[in-house]
Amino acid sequence: MARLVAAGVTLRRQIDKAFPGRDKRSDGWIGDRAHQARKSDHNPDANGWVHAIDIDADLIPWNPRASKKAAQELANQIVEYAASGKLGCNRIKYVVYNDRIASGTYAKTWWQWRGKGYGHFHHIHISFTDVNPVRGRRRFPLPILRRGKT
Ligand SMILES: [Zn+2]
Repeated sequence: MARLVAAGVTLRRQIDKAFPGRDKRSDGWIGDRAHQARKSDHNPDANGWVHAIDIDADLIPWNPRASKKAAQELANQIVEYAASGKLGCNRIKYVVYNDRIASGTYAKTWWQWRGKGYGHFHHIHISFTDVNPVRGRRRFPLPILRRGKT
C-alpha cells in the first residue's frame, strides 16, 4: 500500500486550513501512469512511501489575482524555510513552481529559484526528503499558513 510521507500530510493539512475552499483539481500525490514511466517522487519508493505532493495554485479561486500572489508567496516561503536552518527544514527536498525549481543541490544556487522549462504553472510541486513520522508531524512555520488563525 502506498502512503504519503508524514511531512506531506502535515503541510497539505496546514494549507487546507489556511485556504479553506481552495481549488484542489490540480492537487496530487501518487503518480499516474505517466509518472510511473519515469523517475518521480510521486512514485512509491521501495517501502511504498510517496515523497511528493502537488498543491493546486488556485488557493483563492474566487480571486484569481490574490490567488496567484498567494501561490507564489507560498512557494517562496517553503523555499525560504528550507534554507532557514530551522528545525525540520531539511524535510524539504525541492520545490517546483512557475517554470522554476529550487533545491539545495548546488552551492551556487542553494535554495534559490533557478532554471527554465520546469512547467508547473497550475500547481506547486513539493518533494520531501524522509519518511520520519515524528519530524514529519512538526508544523511548518510558514507565515502564510497562519492566515485566518489570528
Ligand atoms: Zn508533482
